Amino acid sequence: MSPPDAPVRGVSREELRRALEAGGHRFTTQRAAVYRVLSGTSSHPTADDVFTSVRERIPDISLATVYKALEAFVTCGVARKLSLGVGPARYDGRTDDHEHIRCLSCGRVQDIEGLRPRDWMEGLAEMTPFNVVGYRLELEGYCPDCLH
Ligand SMILES: [Zn+2]
Ligand SMILES: [Zn+2]
Repeated sequence: MSPPDAPVRGVSREELRRALEAGGHRFTTQRAAVYRVLSGTSSHPTADDVFTSVRERIPDISLATVYKALEAFVTCGVARKLSLGVGPARYDGRTDDHEHIRCLSCGRVQDIEGLRPRDWMEGLAEMTPFNVVGYRLELEGYCPDCLH
């Protein structure tokens, strides 16, 4: 058994097919290749980054196809879309609860384990009359490479 904090990355090809079809999306080998790139990296790539990687395997794939595949993954719950402070949206093959830190200098985005902001939502009823359903949290700083 893996410890509760172990990153959850990626579903099987068959699970991907099921998730896509359940969401009314087609499963294609191109989409499977896009998913493999996304689930195989922790760099939180943009659609452009994924496009560049997938093209090494499928030279005739288009950016639009990659973009539509990524959006389909997000709506089917097998990937997340991060809209961080600046720049284009990034995609994350991890769908478990975790937070992100972004380098203000080079833009690198990394996962942070162990923060439990969801726990902060306890007792929120006393702070706001809203029915709170989510939150956004983005940590900012300078990565080790940029500090040197
Ligand atoms: Zn940096
Ligand atoms: Zn992440």
